[in-house]
Amino acid sequence: MIPAGFEYHAPRSLADAVKLLSSLGPEAKLLAGGHSLLPMMKLRFAAPAHLVDLGRIAALKGISEAGGEVHIGAMTTEQEILRSPLLASKVPLLVEGAGWISDPQVRARGTIGGDIAHGDPGNDHPALMLALGASFVLSGPKGERVVKAEGFFKGLYDTALAPDEVLTQIRIPIPPAGSGGSYCKLKRKTGDFATAAAAVLLQMDGGPKGKVAKASIALTNVAPTALKAAAAEAALVGKALDEAALGEAARLAMGICAPMEDQRGDAAYKTAMCGEMVRRALQAAAAKCR
Ligand SMILES: Cc1cc2nc3c(=O)[nH]c(=O)nc-3n(C[C@H](O)[C@H](O)[C@H](O)COP(=O)(O)OP(=O)(O)OC[C@H]3O[C@@H](n4cnc5c(N)ncnc54)[C@H](O)[C@@H]3O)c2cc1C
Repeated sequence: MIPAGFEYHAPRSLADAVKLLSSLGPEAKLLAGGHSLLPMMKLRFAAPAHLVDLGRIAALKGISEAGGEVHIGAMTTEQEILRSPLLASKVPLLVEGAGWISDPQVRARGTIGGDIAHGDPGNDHPALMLALGASFVLSGPKGERVVKAEGFFKGLYDTALAPDEVLTQIRIPIPPAGSGGSYCKLKRKTGDFATAAAAVLLQMDGGPKGKVAKASIALTNVAPTALKAAAAEAALVGKALDEAALGEAARLAMGICAPMEDQRGDAAYKTAMCGEMVRRALQAAAAKCR
């Protein structure tokens, strides 16, 4: 289908984009890579009267290190994440996760900011952000605020972003040396969203065979939003990752799953697959701990 008519705006600065959002009101939508918004417009699930394209705002791009964090401009594409030597050395979990997103065409245009702002539980960045303890910089007419990923994802396509705010930057604390991360995703075919996926970041005392010092676990597409598996995280601390600990973490993670039945499976199947993804991601993350 062809989208409903709209007016196109291409501001050259963040200030102009914010001004446009404020003056145009709720009929305006930001356009980033367009890989979630345009399909929705073509299906007429969304029919914004105005599109404000962020593509000409250079300040929204780029990856840099600052004060123990990596800062990523919201308009940075998945492909740029995959090719970043800084991310490969400092936050390899993010690079691994971005590699699981769709296919090369989507990754060439789709942005990390759009993936997060869209609030789609099937998107992979929300769980990665929760596992990595990220925070987000939001700019609006009243200025800038920084919010944590935990608490940002409110519900299905619902986030803490106000309609007149732009997500400008993603800030990720650099995991301590010796940490290990893994993203395990079950998908039916290339280009599909997750049936279930788990993002894990671990610190181990004594390497892979030692005891868990800190665990961070987040889940994709098993509820209306990405979920932080807090009980599973707490249960692992101080334990070796043996069969009993893995089984308990998987059980606790499955306990918070509430997936919707769709063509990828029913709720019981998706929940079971989530448990398996948690188990595998924990094992893979531990193997990377030094
Ligand atoms: C075939 C296909 C398969 C896909 N598979 C996956 C997958 O497996 N995993 C996955 O994670 N994603 C997947 N996606 C989604 C893809 O990653 C999108 O690119 C992403 O969800 C949205 O990013 P975007 O830059 O394209 O944003 P857009 O589509 O341009 O925008 C999405 C929404 O976010 C808002 N928005 C965008 N940028 C900002 C900003 N900076 N501040 C505030 N609001 C903003 C827009 O107004 C819009 O409401 C898939 C997409 C397709 C078409």
